[in-house]
Amino acid sequence: MAKKYLIIGAGFSGSVLANQLVKNLDCVIDLWDERDHIGGNCHTERDEQTGIMVHKYGPHIFNTDKKEIWDFVNSIGEFRPYVHRVKAMSNGKVYSLPVNLHTINQLFGKSFTPAEAKVFLETLADESITDPKNFEEQALRFIGKELYYAFFYGYTKKQWGCEPTELPASILKRIPVRFNYDDNYHNNIFTGIPVDGYSGIIEKLLEHEKIRVSLNKKFESGMDISGYDHVFFTGPIDAWFNFKYGRLGYRTVTFDTFYGDGDFQGTTQMNYCDEEVPYTRITEHKHFTNWEHHDKTICFKEYSKETEATDIPYYPKRLQQDKTLLLKYRNDAELLQKVSFLGRLATYRYMDMHNVIGESLNFAKSFLEADKSGKTPPIFPNIEQ
Ligand code: UDP
Repeated sequence: MAKKYLIIGAGFSGSVLANQLVKNLDCVIDLWDERDHIGGNCHTERDEQTGIMVHKYGPHIFNTDKKEIWDFVNSIGEFRPYVHRVKAMSNGKVYSLPVNLHTINQLFGKSFTPAEAKVFLETLADESITDPKNFEEQALRFIGKELYYAFFYGYTKKQWGCEPTELPASILKRIPVRFNYDDNYHNNIFTGIPVDGYSGIIEKLLEHEKIRVSLNKKFESGMDISGYDHVFFTGPIDAWFNFKYGRLGYRTVTFDTFYGDGDFQGTTQMNYCDEEVPYTRITEHKHFTNWEHHDKTICFKEYSKETEATDIPYYPKRLQQDKTLLLKYRNDAELLQKVSFLGRLATYRYMDMHNVIGESLNFAKSFLEADKSGKTPPIFPNIEQ
């Protein structure tokens, strides 16, 4: 008899899982999402006024080094070449990001060669910091205070709402530093943008008669889910437990949308690094799809703030108190039967799309193996660190 599964959340984690289960197992799947669209925070849609494909929850660029994940997403929908080139406004001037030879030469008014820039940066780096323990120490250790204050201090304070000394060094490690003129924001081998948007990809993942998608359907803690053989939860783990130990910390973002003619800023993303500017960045969506032509333009001015009960969680803060709380929820989750937790919100991690997809594919594999051999299925895709 066909198994009956419930997946909560129609973002990449839930949708990849639904796709894999239905392809490999005799099952029917109910997939709920509390919003009125699929795609979670990767959701894209064409703006009514301009026809431009808009990243409704901020810029998402697909990057990966893993060929199998690149092949997987390309087997679902068409991706076109796109290289993310971010510019940064600091103290009234525009610079190249991530920090590269051009940025160093621009900021210090030099014409260094790669070797000269390397030596120069070593004179700026604070070598007394041997084991960087937080974001600020990591920055001072590797790029020195001039670059740190020009590009990272103000932006990070606005983005995270706290001093960079309170944040883990791992956040800064997301961004490379280069001693050449390569200004690709990412370091990955494969990169692109889906022609029909991310929601187009997710729609295809869910195109199956045995997947029944219900939008505007919110999971409430304590709902009767006993009719399902297994439930997969991709929402915030604290919400599953009705926040009984308290709420995990997230930053959320809000957008001011504005329109114009032609080209507003000449690039997809301009970061505003000064603390006094209230927003963190402006995204101009038409630049994601340079193969399309649009006379008009639509931009999002992005603001960051603390997440309240009704806000959409974006960036997990992962401060010490959050990690303590997370462990309590994870321990409780381990005691549940027939429930698994996966994805960015259910595992409370800062995850890129390719990691979410890769983890969901692996999780589906483990689940299928467990099902076949009659073993207990995995509860989490990861071990908490
Ligand atoms: N960051 C910064 N200045 C910038 C860009 C990034 O200080 O101009 C810091 C900031 O703390 C941010 C982190 O680097 O949260 C990671 O940046 P990334 O661009 O990866 O953030 P995302 O695109 O995921 O928001």
